[in-house]
Amino acid sequence: MSFTLHGLAVSQGIAIGHAHLVSHATLEVAHYTVRERDLPREITRFEEALATVRTELGALKTEAATPGSPSELSALVNVHAMFLDDPMLAEVPKDLMRERRCNAEWALVQQMELLVAQFDEIDDGYLRERKHDIVQVVERVLRVLLGKPRRLGRKGGKGEKGDEGELVVVAHDLSPADTIQFKNLKIAGFVTDLGGATSHTAIVARSLAIPAVVGLHHARPLVRENDMIIVDGTRGVLIVDPDARVLEEYRLRKRELELERSKLKRLKTARAATLDNVDVELMANIELPQDIAQVKEAGADGVGLFRTEFLFMNRDTLPSEDEQFEAYRVVAKALAGKPVTIRTLDIGGDKTARALAGTERQAPNPALGLRAIRYCLAEPQIFLAQLRAILRASHFGKVQILIPMLAHVTEIEQTLTMIEQAKAQLRERRCKFDEHIAVGGMIEIPAAALALGAFVKRLQFLSIGTNDLIQYTLAIDRTDEAVSHLYDPLHPAVLRLLSMVIQTAHKAEIPVAVCGELAGDPKLTRLLLGMGLRQFSMHPTQLLEVKQQIVMADTEQLAMKVTRLMRCDEPERIREQVERL
Ligand code: PEP
Ligand code: MG
Repeated sequence: MSFTLHGLAVSQGIAIGHAHLVSHATLEVAHYTVRERDLPREITRFEEALATVRTELGALKTEAATPGSPSELSALVNVHAMFLDDPMLAEVPKDLMRERRCNAEWALVQQMELLVAQFDEIDDGYLRERKHDIVQVVERVLRVLLGKPRRLGRKGGKGEKGDEGELVVVAHDLSPADTIQFKNLKIAGFVTDLGGATSHTAIVARSLAIPAVVGLHHARPLVRENDMIIVDGTRGVLIVDPDARVLEEYRLRKRELELERSKLKRLKTARAATLDNVDVELMANIELPQDIAQVKEAGADGVGLFRTEFLFMNRDTLPSEDEQFEAYRVVAKALAGKPVTIRTLDIGGDKTARALAGTERQAPNPALGLRAIRYCLAEPQIFLAQLRAILRASHFGKVQILIPMLAHVTEIEQTLTMIEQAKAQLRERRCKFDEHIAVGGMIEIPAAALALGAFVKRLQFLSIGTNDLIQYTLAIDRTDEAVSHLYDPLHPAVLRLLSMVIQTAHKAEIPVAVCGELAGDPKLTRLLLGMGLRQFSMHPTQLLEVKQQIVMADTEQLAMKVTRLMRCDEPERIREQVERL
């Protein structure tokens, strides 16, 4: 039966494919009693499922050993194989089946729940987090038991079902750490029941250039594995089991979008300058070194934001200084003298890393907690290792350091002291680095925007993080779909803060960029140009659309119109004026 669900459009485009449910095992399985005489067969069924998963993990292990595979994959597979063979998963469910005559799936889920509860009691954060591995192993076995030994395809491989056979992930929720793993998989799109439009999960979806809709509320319970679905990431719509007419309509629209995209490619080598000859710098946001390919494809002027925290996710140990150095060096070298702005670790909030779980406290309100620079200053050894890695990479290109989530001048001063300390350590080791490396700050807390005079004296450049600036100005959690309708980039308070920061930076004669999602929204390019912005940093996939707006704009005219618009307090009138710019 065909039906449609509406949510938040977070990554544009259309995906047509088959649903792959990413599930919490407990919600799924049937519970029934097995007859005494059928018990041996049920136990054999369970043992065969374990054997199949053992083979799957063996294949994954071989894959993990091939060049180019993420280094943490191998460690993860080993942990999963260890849990699979542990008697607590391999034997105890069989005892339960014998004692309670429950079916294999039910026995396994009961045992999993018991183990998860035991792990929850553990004080050590690292060990406690291992419960997720148990759940993942159990989910693998359950999929085999349920006759769905389905795996997501590796990127570059063929979809399992021909051109519309790629999988569309359907989940209740996905963390940024889950989503970043899609970079190595062949996923056509994803939808979730939870999530806000500027959550990091949504941001990663945009960087993957795959259509995504979040905040659908009921997709996970209503969609069945393998259902044909259409994700309209531009309108925020999910269509399940579409009829032939709708499917044809969407196929057509998908082809049109692809055509439009390919036409845009002609702009790649065009100069990003306005009609009145004002040059604009268009930079790229990246999460991992592998994103460089997209940066080059878009013809970006550099990397305006490297979200380094993604190097710390989906692994059990921290990336060492050398490993980080290698990641930063690869980007610096590839950009061949163009600026590479490396943001120091912005962990916390919705971005969690299990390698830091021992030190990360369960915060009562993560968005307002020990996040970003606050976390780094509280963990000087982790911070110093990263600073040394960035400094070492600065010898291989034009690297600059960006500090996230500043609210206090003292945070800048402490960071600058630590940068000096890292430099001294490197001098002692006779390591080469750029002695004059530029240090900039992210303006994403209203306090910083309002007290910017003291900040610009200590920083060499600014980058406005509008995702957080809006979150903290309007007091709405960017990950919470329940308040996502209040997330308004055109709120007069937001516009004033933005304009103030741009003007203060100009007066102080230091460069200022916007690197939040606003910078990549072509509907807002003219507004930002009118405010005086000349540096934009965005997902590479957005860059040519924004360039298209720039080459048709006249900054003088826009400045006049935006000055008028800024006097307005009425949201509706502001919206109308932005549309008419
Ligand atoms: C922002 O807050 O706008 C930003 C660019 O940083 P992040 O989205 O990673 O918090
Ligand atoms: Mg931010």
